[in-house]
Amino acid sequence: MRKKIIAGNWKMNKNLEDGLALVSEASNMIKDEYNGNAIVVFIPPYIHLNAVSKMLAAYPNQFTGAQNCSNHESGAYTGEISASMIGSCGANYVIIGHSERRQYFNEHNQWLAQKIDTCLKNKLLPIYCCGETLEERETEKHFHVIASQIKEGLFHLNASEILNITVAYEPVWAIGTGKTASTDQAQEIHAFIRGLIASNYSPEIADQITIQYGGSVKPENAAELFAAPDIDGALIGGAALQSRSFTDIVKAMTL
Ligand code: PEP
Repeated sequence: MRKKIIAGNWKMNKNLEDGLALVSEASNMIKDEYNGNAIVVFIPPYIHLNAVSKMLAAYPNQFTGAQNCSNHESGAYTGEISASMIGSCGANYVIIGHSERRQYFNEHNQWLAQKIDTCLKNKLLPIYCCGETLEERETEKHFHVIASQIKEGLFHLNASEILNITVAYEPVWAIGTGKTASTDQAQEIHAFIRGLIASNYSPEIADQITIQYGGSVKPENAAELFAAPDIDGALIGGAALQSRSFTDIVKAMTL
């Protein structure tokens, strides 16, 4: 069975004290209330990673991740954070290509492919984001946009490397807007992404890739989304900032 992964991306929210209080509460609620098999990933700002990782060391299915990393290994890149630094702080996962990075920091697929490589070289597991804008969906370009993001960001990897990737389908129009893609809309794109991976690698490989949905996931809509055959978890923004809502989304993944 594919890994189910619920990840909470805090974006640029929570100072250290508030962040640690959230992790302490949520990790204990998940330990006490959740008996499924999903992996839970807390994705705080970089500077909290070490403290959060230490806090989660006692929880076998709970991990930390970073929100981004440099495409360079090391060197004179003031303000950047390398994959090796992220690993040294105890994190296991890294979001690559979040739509906010693509939109506000002009990150493009070729650059993201380099970031994927530096993560894998440093034994970090990328969560690679893709998704269309509202205009792209309304003009029916969404399949084309998503196919380019997947091919250009990932298809340089060999068959064993691609197995380390989690894909997150995040329609830009659903992120932070309160509008969720319907389960049918999300399932259609997830099946499309799995089909792309199957044609480029093999159906067996595609079947093992975790594909998360992201975009206004809440406790109220999580169970329905998770019941779809190709939706293997969620990448959560706003609802990950409170222990109760984050835990309730984790609990909706019953597998
Ligand atoms: C996100 O930031 O990846 C996200 C999906 O945010 P939200 O859940 O707030 O829409």
